[in-house]
Amino acid sequence: MILMKAGGSAITDKSMDFSIKAHNLERLGRALATATEPVVLCHGGGSFGHPLARRYDLSGEITTPEQLRGVSHTNIAMRNLSNIVCEALIEGGCTPFALQTSAILTADRGRIDVFNTAIVHHVLSTGFIPVVYGDVVYDATYRYAIVSGDQIMRRLAEAFPGNRALFLTDVDGLYTADPKRDPGATLIRDIALADLGTVQAGEAGDVTGGMKGKVAEIAALEGVVTEVQVLSLSRDGALEAALRGGVGGTRIIMK
Ligand code: ADP
Repeated sequence: MILMKAGGSAITDKSMDFSIKAHNLERLGRALATATEPVVLCHGGGSFGHPLARRYDLSGEITTPEQLRGVSHTNIAMRNLSNIVCEALIEGGCTPFALQTSAILTADRGRIDVFNTAIVHHVLSTGFIPVVYGDVVYDATYRYAIVSGDQIMRRLAEAFPGNRALFLTDVDGLYTADPKRDPGATLIRDIALADLGTVQAGEAGDVTGGMKGKVAEIAALEGVVTEVQVLSLSRDGALEAALRGGVGGTRIIMK
């Protein structure tokens, strides 16, 4: 089976609040329909999650009425995005089943505490694609906290050990530096887990830490996944090739 993370920048347009990348969502639905092994899908928040988290300051302790309103808005926005993703999957010929992440997962100080992965197993075992997502969840210390899709991937990998993880984003993979800022950045084809620290990854202003946060969560997959690939959902055929077992984008060798 495959653990797949569809990044917020892959499925939404981060330059405009609450906007999606319709072509990429179509591509995701069509590609997943060709998968010959079971897939668990986790998606990010992109333009549905991050602008709200910033506007209502949802990092650290949530105390003010305004922040609580922000929690409610984010809760709704992420359900809306999950619906859009699931509809695109159905359109492509897949059978997705969304699990409202904040109902099966709690956190403490922004890190996942309890995660009812049994339900993910059940949904997968009935032939569906379980769909979870980065979300605002109950937090034992902060009251509420944003948990990124990248962080959820680690716990999914623990629940389903020994599988491949694919991270879909809006660039072809991991570069030596942010390719949108540094014209000299070059795509890394293969990198050992131990060398991930040498990658200059931007924080992108997201509460979940952008590519820097992603690289840290990928490093935490050590010992629970066999291989990680980072690839673009914007490139035709890239995901299909990866689903067939091919290598594209960046491959992180998990020794
Ligand atoms: P997603 O929302 O897809 O999970 P992010 O938007 O957080 O991912 O991160 C993807 C973005 O990170 C890319 O659009 C790219 O501009 C930026 N980035 C920063 N550093 C790097 C790097 N070293 N390699 C690739 N992308 C990088």
